[in-house]
Amino acid sequence: MQWTVRLEAMTNAGEVKTTELVTFSRPGVVSTLAEIGLMLAETKTLLARLQASMLRGQVAAYAAYHRVCAACGVLRPLKDRRTRRLQTLFGTVEVEAPRFKVCRCRLTAPLAEVTVSPVCALLTARCTPELERVQAELGARTSFRDAARILEALLPVSPANHESLRIRTHAVALQLEAADRQAAAEVMGVRDEPAKAAAADTSRPVVMLDGAYIRAVPGHQTRNFEAICGKVEHEGHATRRFALVHSVAEQPHILLRAALLDQGWREGNAVTAISDGDPALPALVRSAMGGPVEPILDWFHLSMRVHHVEQVMGGLCALEPLPLVLPDHAQIDVERLRSLLWNGHHDKAYEALGRIKSWTKDAVVPNEPAAEAKVRRLVARCAELRSYIESNEGALIDYGQRHRAGKPISTSRAEGTVNQLVSARMNKRRQMRWSSRGAHRVFQVRAAVLDRRFGHPAIQLAA
Ligand SMILES: [Zn+2]
Repeated sequence: MQWTVRLEAMTNAGEVKTTELVTFSRPGVVSTLAEIGLMLAETKTLLARLQASMLRGQVAAYAAYHRVCAACGVLRPLKDRRTRRLQTLFGTVEVEAPRFKVCRCRLTAPLAEVTVSPVCALLTARCTPELERVQAELGARTSFRDAARILEALLPVSPANHESLRIRTHAVALQLEAADRQAAAEVMGVRDEPAKAAAADTSRPVVMLDGAYIRAVPGHQTRNFEAICGKVEHEGHATRRFALVHSVAEQPHILLRAALLDQGWREGNAVTAISDGDPALPALVRSAMGGPVEPILDWFHLSMRVHHVEQVMGGLCALEPLPLVLPDHAQIDVERLRSLLWNGHHDKAYEALGRIKSWTKDAVVPNEPAAEAKVRRLVARCAELRSYIESNEGALIDYGQRHRAGKPISTSRAEGTVNQLVSARMNKRRQMRWSSRGAHRVFQVRAAVLDRRFGHPAIQLAA
């Protein structure tokens, strides 16, 4: 059996031109499953020929249209025929790019206008925007090398190595950042009515921030560098992720500002920022909004430190025979820590930690290395939690109340974002090393891909 695919192209004037694209042959009666249906290689050939035919037809029509002189309606004389190559998802296509002389009616035109190449003006890049976007999306999802292989395996795409995938991903990242800056600048010019701002205040956006470490390429100043990742959540809006490397981001606060604006936040509205106690994180939110932030210390990070104290205390009590006489109230104080902090009594927790510390310090420890080490550890853990409470005092809240109100108290959802944004693409197991700039750019594309902000323009198919 034989199948021939013919392409029927019809111009607006109704002219029809038929081109034979490919012919597939199979035995009249197939003998195996593998012989049924289209093969990948055939499909690639078909797509490549379809693309070349369509693209050349469009470019030729474009050149013909622009050959007509706008002033007198006469065809401009042809100077020469050149060619241009365009990379696409369906192969590289060589197109004709004729150059036309200036029309006789405008012979006095300045020298610079003597020849024009309309096709060169149309082909502003070496590749189609779609190819660039698909390469960037795959490059943000998986390694550049794998991305190049996947595309080549499935499509008759223009050949690309990992290096060109990297360049395209970076280019798209720069476009996304530029769009963010533009969006931030546009909204800044618009003043909202106070009533609208007050209404929006009832449900304020929550920014959840977390840090992540990325292995640096050899030659970088440090072995690892830090990235800031997070999420902006606001009722009635789809969650928006963001990630950046502070040291290389151009105006990092603008990226966060764009994310906030996208979530319906407007100048003057309040924002809640949940983070792990690193003062740089709420500071970033402050500079993004240009106003005060309600900071909340992430419950998970606080709870982990309480857990460390509980654990050491548990270990001490489990020693047989009990090496020292621990005052009962020390144990009770440790048991109360969690609920004190949960219910917003951090001042009482702070005092209790001071008591535990001083009792434990004065406790008579028999000459037994295991017990001694445990007591030392308890003192250290208590001191750690105490100074953590002290340095985050302004960010400690009544977690129980907020939790009962159904509001987030933890960046655990931001940590999910770290996993999606960082670990899945950059973690140590993949043995990848990054430049801070490279990581920052991949983050921009990856966040957009995960948010589905990386829109595919709707292409209307003819009915
Ligand atoms: Zn003319």
